[in-house]
Amino acid sequence: MKKFDPASNVQDLMQFGEFGDVNPSITDSATYTFLEAKSMVDTFHGETEGCFLYSRHWNPSNKYLADALAAMEGTEAAWVTASGMGAITSAILQLVNTGDHIVSSITTYGGTYAFLKNYLPKFNIDVTFVDITNLDEVKKAMRPNTKVIYTETMTNPMLNISDLPALSEIAESFGAKLMVDNTFTPMIVTPSKHGAHIVVYSMTKFINGKNDCVAGAICGSFEYINSLADVNSGTAMLLGPVLDPLRSSSILKNMHTLHIRMKQHSSNAMYLAKKFKEIGLTFVYPGMPECKGHDILNRIMNPEFGYGGMIAIDMQTAERASNLMEMMQNEGVGYLAVSLGYFKTLFSNSGKSTSSEVPEETQKEMGMSEGLVRFSVGLDNDIERTFEKIHYCLKELNYV
Ligand SMILES: *Cc1c(COP(=O)(O)O)cnc(C)c1O
Repeated sequence: MKKFDPASNVQDLMQFGEFGDVNPSITDSATYTFLEAKSMVDTFHGETEGCFLYSRHWNPSNKYLADALAAMEGTEAAWVTASGMGAITSAILQLVNTGDHIVSSITTYGGTYAFLKNYLPKFNIDVTFVDITNLDEVKKAMRPNTKVIYTETMTNPMLNISDLPALSEIAESFGAKLMVDNTFTPMIVTPSKHGAHIVVYSMTKFINGKNDCVAGAICGSFEYINSLADVNSGTAMLLGPVLDPLRSSSILKNMHTLHIRMKQHSSNAMYLAKKFKEIGLTFVYPGMPECKGHDILNRIMNPEFGYGGMIAIDMQTAERASNLMEMMQNEGVGYLAVSLGYFKTLFSNSGKSTSSEVPEETQKEMGMSEGLVRFSVGLDNDIERTFEKIHYCLKELNYV
């Protein structure tokens, strides 16, 4: 079998603009004319292919980007949203009704955790949080009314790896769907090839890679994506988290360099991880053989893109984390900022930032240290020089 190649799939798209423009034209329009009244009626009922009605429903610029995402993910279709949370919440709400149940990894993005923990109970939707790497615990949590198993391929911020084929099997045996947030590992892992039914993204991160906007995506079957855009019952249509077409256009152009960026993020992170090991730091990088999820990632990854750009270092205390981050920023290692997948290195203390929605007790339960510094390693041309700067900071602070 020919190997699945997400980068070539994107590259092979022939998407032309109105005048043969090599970049698809931007459709700067909220509404669309119809030559015949009947076509409008049919479009409302979802019965016309290639007709556009209103830009909250679909618009051509978003369709180009959605098609590129579907090509990358190997899914039949995709839909693009104004943020990652817009994608995650719409995708979940489309699948569950009052009285239903969800099994979720306890380590997820803080906003996702807060939505599942604090928001869904309003609708009498119950969520059981599990250690997603413990398959027995996942199985035990399943109920006859479980509709979704929710996880992240590489979980935030602990960088655990989800065993997607095994989770898919559990989901299917209960008639549930496996929904995977692949934000940390685009191209590296293709979840739909390992049994994920729905893949969600924050495109704010690696996919766009420029930190100039927030955006999200939902990838899945035609049937599911159409259900999201249904004028009577679709969460995407009715909650309205649609992405602006000007943004779709800029994200699509950035997607065409994603494969090169992922390789560089990965090789820079691997270099730093090896150096961190040499100087005796405690850290997690899934590319290191001693890392818990290493073998699973090896089984499911598209190897040419490496092990990703995320490293989590344990500085033991929040104070030591702060001292290190402030000094690294002053020395020009990168920025003390949340988010990830940017061309510059970003670092933040997860417990006090992107996971602050997770109560401290729960943070402890998931094995998260208060001194955890999450690194999103940038596209640095000279990563040796970057390491020297980090090493200098650690030595000055007497942390190594
Ligand atoms: C940032 C992030 C989100 C949320 O995405 P937004 O674009 O900020 O709404 C969801 N999941 C993960 C893993 C993230 O890193």
